[in-house]
Amino acid sequence: MKYNEISHFSHPQHILKFEYTEVPFKCDGCKEVGIGSRYRCSFCDFDLHMHCTVPSLSISHPFYTKCSFQFLSRPPGDTPRYCNACEKDVTGFVYHCKTCGFDLHPCCAKLPMVLDDGEVKLYLYRKVRSPCHRCGRKGRSWSYQSACKKYNLHVACVREMLVENWHELYFGGGKGSRKLQSQIPSLKNTLQTPHKRSKGKVKKCCEMAALALQFIISAVLGDPTALIAGVIGTLMSRA
Ligand SMILES: [Zn+2]
Ligand SMILES: [Zn+2]
Ligand SMILES: [Zn+2]
Ligand SMILES: [Zn+2]
Ligand SMILES: [Zn+2]
Repeated sequence: MKYNEISHFSHPQHILKFEYTEVPFKCDGCKEVGIGSRYRCSFCDFDLHMHCTVPSLSISHPFYTKCSFQFLSRPPGDTPRYCNACEKDVTGFVYHCKTCGFDLHPCCAKLPMVLDDGEVKLYLYRKVRSPCHRCGRKGRSWSYQSACKKYNLHVACVREMLVENWHELYFGGGKGSRKLQSQIPSLKNTLQTPHKRSKGKVKKCCEMAALALQFIISAVLGDPTALIAGVIGTLMSRA
């Protein structure tokens, strides 16, 4: 096998090859959307996030210091389960704490505590007391917050946006330019939600944080380093 090829327990019949894509894909491990780095079997259209390709047997998380999360290839039991980070249902690969019953999608478990694009830093919190830019609610799921603490965005809201825009994102490009247009409004709303009392430095910081939305999106999609210029970057410059 070459350095960029692996065999994986979830797809033993073929070798998976490393690939970088700016087109969103569905991960056959965790069943969530991905972008950027992936391992792929092109015969079967089988894709895995990096985090799903090389899971840790067990992990701890700074938000749940008493928990020990075990990697499972499917959620335990018969009842529907939800990710504690993003609130979306868990239907595939999962990190599960047996003691507390907490679940985390592999990509949610590995969300960076700080997203830093050089100019803007966004910090991950388990709960924030300021309203979310998109849904206006406090608390709820994990959030990314700017250093000035004025810009907050739920990980759950980013997931919802991705689900809403999934078809446009997935089938976008090529003849889909019309379809791509249709996702602009929701991103535009997210970016343009006005700040109360936002002036001077705070405002500048928040504007940049809003632009950093694409970093949050790519982190939720499992590859914080992915430059999704082809998909969301273009939309944002047009928005
Ligand atoms: Zn995955
Ligand atoms: Zn295959
Ligand atoms: Zn626990
Ligand atoms: Zn999640
Ligand atoms: Zn929200």
